[in-house]
Amino acid sequence: MLTGTCVGGRGLGAHGSAQTTAPLLNVTQGSARFKKLVADVVTSLPLADWEKIQGVSFCEIGGRSPYAGAYSSAGRGTIVVSGDASEAAQRAALLHEIGHAVLGHAVSTEETESAAREWARSHGAGR
Ligand SMILES: [Zn+2]
Repeated sequence: MLTGTCVGGRGLGAHGSAQTTAPLLNVTQGSARFKKLVADVVTSLPLADWEKIQGVSFCEIGGRSPYAGAYSSAGRGTIVVSGDASEAAQRAALLHEIGHAVLGHAVSTEETESAAREWARSHGAGR
């Protein structure tokens, strides 16, 4: 189980042309590499998906974990990614967890995991 506290952090830039008008609603906490990765992944999403994850916090945490990522739907949603993972694994984990958020999942079941994997595949995981 990933543990850690996701607080503070800097606002994540808004999507494409919405940058000048959209508020900075996402919180990103972690290394510079992680923040850049989150910005790259999030801003490459289709606008409709990007809108669904406004307010979701992205948090990179230290320590070893059997999971590369985790998603909690509590509040506005939090995506946690292991800082122990490679950048490629972090990207794949981000896309999988964003899939859970976009699809509105609240629990982890075989069905929601399968749907998140499929969502991530169709949005460039493994690219
Ligand atoms: Zn999952």
